[in-house]
Amino acid sequence: MNITDKNIRNAPTLAIVAPCFNEKENIERLVSVISTLLLNMTNEALVSDGSFLYLVDDGSSDDSWEIIKKIKLLNPKLKALKLSRNFGHQAALLAGLTEVTGKCDAAISIDADLQQDPKVIRNFVIQYKGGVDVVLGIRRDRSADGWFKRKTALGFYMLMRFMGVSTIPNHADYRLLSNQALQALNLFPEKNIFLRAICLQLGFRVGVVNFDVSPREFGETKYSLRKMLGLALHGITSFSVAPLRLVTFLGFSLFLFSLLMGSYVFWITEFSGRALPGWASIVLPVYFIGGVQLLCLGIVGEYIGQIYSTVRNRPRWISEDHIE
Ligand code: UDP
Ligand code: MG
Repeated sequence: MNITDKNIRNAPTLAIVAPCFNEKENIERLVSVISTLLLNMTNEALVSDGSFLYLVDDGSSDDSWEIIKKIKLLNPKLKALKLSRNFGHQAALLAGLTEVTGKCDAAISIDADLQQDPKVIRNFVIQYKGGVDVVLGIRRDRSADGWFKRKTALGFYMLMRFMGVSTIPNHADYRLLSNQALQALNLFPEKNIFLRAICLQLGFRVGVVNFDVSPREFGETKYSLRKMLGLALHGITSFSVAPLRLVTFLGFSLFLFSLLMGSYVFWITEFSGRALPGWASIVLPVYFIGGVQLLCLGIVGEYIGQIYSTVRNRPRWISEDHIE
């Protein structure tokens, strides 16, 4: 039986969390679209009356915050937070999710430019009511993106897979997290949190919702190449010690190679009679010392990897239910 066939949860108090960075052209439309949607969903008893929109102004330098304050006067369903400077999309999103934890039954994160089809919010909630705690929005195709964005995204997912970080291709940050999943997220005290992968590690039931992406109507992308590279690097280093392992592997291979070279040199001097004086004493130590050095670096790296996972202080387990 499909678990989503049956409602096992009541209509949730839904929080829609949207980070905004210099989105003055989009805020009014975002608030109006989401408020209408929440109202319709309340009337259909899909969400509770207390559902709200939560905007996080990520240190905008345009008048986004003034616009938010003005709209707030007319719209009681709007709540907002302003960060002191631009901390970046992931930090702003996490700030929003942390703030709504405990104040809602489920939170959906969405971009302020409404590129992600807001109509599927309904499907997210249906899955939640069927008992799913983490619902991932997966975009159907990437035709709304330019060539460069498509290729860099593909490279990003390939690199992640190579490094052993599990991510879901074409899922960015359009997702629903139940309050239980949000509480679990708060157990991760590390500074750099890579939400896309951590949400898959919470262990709760995961569902997907497909959606279409439309081109950005107003304003420009706030994800510069620098920010995209930063995100990729951050994703790898916060989830994988594969680069450190690579050093150990390289060192070990070079060390083995130097032993093989040693046997070869021994064979030349002893049996071939073609030995060049001085050659072995120069070449062999180069391989041997290089191999030993890299191997030692790799061993140090392994310890750094251990220190790193200890310092990250991730929860060792997350409970789902208990009976006393
Ligand atoms: N954003 C943010 N801080 C940043 C960059 C982006 O809060 O430093 C927000 C932005 O306002 C938008 C969302 O993150 O709501 C996604 O950004 P954008 O639409 O520019 O990314 P793209 O769709 O081009 O990947
Ligand atoms: Mg966008």
